[in-house]
Amino acid sequence: MSRTELPHAVSPTSPLLPPGHEAEHADDLYGKLCAVANNLWWSWHPECDQLFRDIDPIRWRQLDHNPVALLREMSPERLADRASELVLHSRINYAYRRLQEYLANTHTWAATNADVLGAKPVAYFSAEFGIHESVPIYSGGLGVLAGDHIKSASGLGVPLVGVGLYYSHGYFRQYLDDDGYQGEDYLETTIENLPMRPALDPNGNPITISIETRNGLLLAKVWLMHVGRVRLYLLDCNVDGNKPEDRELTSRLYGGDQRTRIRQELVLGVGGVKALAALGIDPGVYHLNEGHSAFGALQVVWQFMDTDGMTFKDACRQATRMTCFTTHTPVPAGHDRFPPELVEEHLGPLRDALGISADELLALGRVDPNNSNETFCMTVIGFKMSRFANAVSNLHGVVSRRMWAHMWPGRPEDDIPIGHITNGVHVLTWLAGQMSLLYDKHFAADWKRRLQEPDAWQGIHGVDPGELWETHNALKNNLLSFVRRRISRQCRRRGENDNVVESARRILDPRVLTIGFGRRFATYKRANLLFSDLDRVSKLLNDPQRPVQLIYAGKAHPKDEPGKRFIQEIANLRHDPRFAGRVAFIEDYDINVCRHLIQGVDVWLNNPRRPLEASGTSGQKVVLNGGLNCSILDGWWAEAYNGVNGFAIGRGYSHSKDEITDQRDALALYDTLENQVIPCYYDRDADGLPNAWIKHMMHSISTLAWRFSSHRMVADYSSQAYLWAAGGVTCDMRNR
Ligand SMILES: *Cc1c(COP(=O)(O)O)cnc(C)c1O
Repeated sequence: MSRTELPHAVSPTSPLLPPGHEAEHADDLYGKLCAVANNLWWSWHPECDQLFRDIDPIRWRQLDHNPVALLREMSPERLADRASELVLHSRINYAYRRLQEYLANTHTWAATNADVLGAKPVAYFSAEFGIHESVPIYSGGLGVLAGDHIKSASGLGVPLVGVGLYYSHGYFRQYLDDDGYQGEDYLETTIENLPMRPALDPNGNPITISIETRNGLLLAKVWLMHVGRVRLYLLDCNVDGNKPEDRELTSRLYGGDQRTRIRQELVLGVGGVKALAALGIDPGVYHLNEGHSAFGALQVVWQFMDTDGMTFKDACRQATRMTCFTTHTPVPAGHDRFPPELVEEHLGPLRDALGISADELLALGRVDPNNSNETFCMTVIGFKMSRFANAVSNLHGVVSRRMWAHMWPGRPEDDIPIGHITNGVHVLTWLAGQMSLLYDKHFAADWKRRLQEPDAWQGIHGVDPGELWETHNALKNNLLSFVRRRISRQCRRRGENDNVVESARRILDPRVLTIGFGRRFATYKRANLLFSDLDRVSKLLNDPQRPVQLIYAGKAHPKDEPGKRFIQEIANLRHDPRFAGRVAFIEDYDINVCRHLIQGVDVWLNNPRRPLEASGTSGQKVVLNGGLNCSILDGWWAEAYNGVNGFAIGRGYSHSKDEITDQRDALALYDTLENQVIPCYYDRDADGLPNAWIKHMMHSISTLAWRFSSHRMVADYSSQAYLWAAGGVTCDMRNR
C-alpha cells in the first residue's frame, strides 16, 4: 500500500509531541508512546515493535511498521481504550522509561575509551541512511551500513551526528510484470508520518542554508531525526525560493542525470557542512562515508580561512587532518566522476572564495593533477582531502591499495595509505527477538552491552542443541509464512486466477533445506550463477530424500538492463514445472524483506565475482540468527571463514577472463552444495537433530557475531580514525 493513501482520516486531535517529550502525567500514555515513536531507538527493541503491533496488528502491517503513522491515526482516547483492553499500561511505561534511561546513561564504552571525542562530535556524512523500513531514505547496503554505524555510535556513546539528504520519494518500489520484468514506482512519503522535525539553530529558529552556484542559489532546509543518542540531520531542497526543478532535486535517491547527481552531492557535502555551522555544531572529525559528500571538505577549508584567517594551504592541512574517508567499491563504475563544466558550475563560487584556479580545483579530483583528460573523481578528492582513508574489508584494502597505487607514485603497494576497517552490522537490529531471548537465558546478563567482545558470545556453546534448532526452526517458519503471504499477494496483484493465488499459499516446506539470496541485482553479484546448469540444479531441488528450496529477492538499478534480465530469469522459473513451488522471488527487497530472510534461512548464498564485493553485510546478519553462510571467499567472508563456521565456494582464485571464472565458480558452487551443505543438513540423529550442522551454527555465532558487529566496527573507527583525527592520538597510518 502506498504511504500516501491512508484509508483512515488523520486525527487532527493528535499532534505529535516533540521527540524526547517528557510525559506530564504518569498516565499520559499517548505522550509517552509518541516519545518512543519519535526516537528510532524503538526499532531495535523487539518489545517496542511488539507493543505497536499489538495496538493494531493489521494497520501496523499496512503502514510499513510506522508507529508515527499509527499514532497519528489514533486519538489519545482511542489509545487509552486499546491500552485498557490489552493491559498495555505497564508495557508503555516500561518502554518509555527504558528510552529515558538510555538517553540519560553516561556510563558508555566511549566514556572510558574515547573520552577526548567528548567535546566535539564526529560529523558522519552519507548519501543514504537505512534505519528502518518506515523511513525510506536508503537504497541498499551503503545506506544500511550508515544506519548501523549511527546506531552503534549511539550504543557505544560515541558523540556523533549524522548528515544526509531527505528524499521525499526515496528509492523506487519494485514490482514485476507478468513477464517477470522489473517495474519501478516512486511513492511520495507522507512527511508528517516520519519521526522528524525541522532542526533548530541555537536561537530556536528553523534554518535554511543556501549554496551559490554559477547558475543561481540553491536552498535547502534541514530536518532532525533522533536515532537513540545520535542526531541525524537531513537536507531537503523542497523549499520556497528554489526553482521548481530544484525543489525536486532531493526527491529521488540515485535518480536523475549527472547534473542532478552533482547538485545532490553539492547539497550533501557543502550544504551539510553549512548546516552544521548554522546549527552551532563544531565537529572535531569529519567522516565521509563514500565519495558522495567529498565536496564538504572544501567547505571546511573555507570555514578555516574565513574564521581563523588561515591561508588556503594551512586551511587545507587543517581540514585534511580532521577528515576520514571510507571508500566502498572496487567496481570502477561505482566511483562518481564529473566533467569540468559541471564542477565549475557548482563549485565555481566556492573556488573563488578559496582563491584557487579552475585547474587547481580540478586537480583535486584527478589522480594525475596535470592530466586534463581526467574527469573529476569524487573518490580521488576523498583521498586527497583526508588523512585517514580506509576500505571496508581486509581483501578490499588490498584491492584498493592496488587500484589507487598510481595516486602515490613510487610508493610500494603495501605502503599505499589506505587501510581497512571491515564492515559490521547492528546486532540488536538484525537479531530476531526469539533468538535474543535464547541468548538472554544462556549468555552473561550484560551481553547486550558488550556486543563487540568475543567473550560475550561464548555462551552459545552451552546452549542445548535441541533448543537452538527449535528456535531456528520457529524463525524459519516465520519466514515461510511471510514468503507465502507475499507471493500470493504478488499473484493477486498480477490478476492471476484463484488457483494460482491459492497454491502460492502452500509453496515451500519447512522440512526442506532453505537457501536464501537477497541483495542488489548488480551483475557482478551473479544472482543466476546457481542456474548455470538447470538440469543439475533441478536435480538438487527435487531430490526425494534431500530436497532444496530457494528464496530470492533484490532490486536492479532502473538503468541496469542486464540486472533486470537476471531478475526476470529467476522470477520466471515459477513457470517451469521443475522449479514451481521450489523457487520463490519476493518483490520489493527492503529492510523488512531482508530482516525476514536473514532471520529464517538455513543457508545464505553469496557468489559475487571475486574481488568485486567490497565487504557485503547481509551474511553477517544471518550469522546472528543461526543461519550458515555459503559464500565465495570475497569481501568479509575471505577473512571470516575458518573451515568450520560456514561453507566456502572455491578457494579464492579468479581467472582473468570472467567467463572462465564464472564457469569454475558455478562448478565449485555445485560441489559445495552437493558434497558439504546438503549432506550435512540432512545428517540427523535419532531425535531428528542435525548435530554436525548445529555445531557449525555455534561456531559461526561464537567466531563471527562479535567480530562483524557494527559495535566492533565503530569501536575500530573510534580508536583508529576518530581519536587520531580529533588529535587525541598521534599515529599516522600513512606511515604504517
Ligand atoms: C543489509 C542489506 C543490504 C546489504 O546486503 P549485501 O549483502 O551487502 O549486498 C542491502 N539491502 C538491504 C535492504 C539490507 O538490509
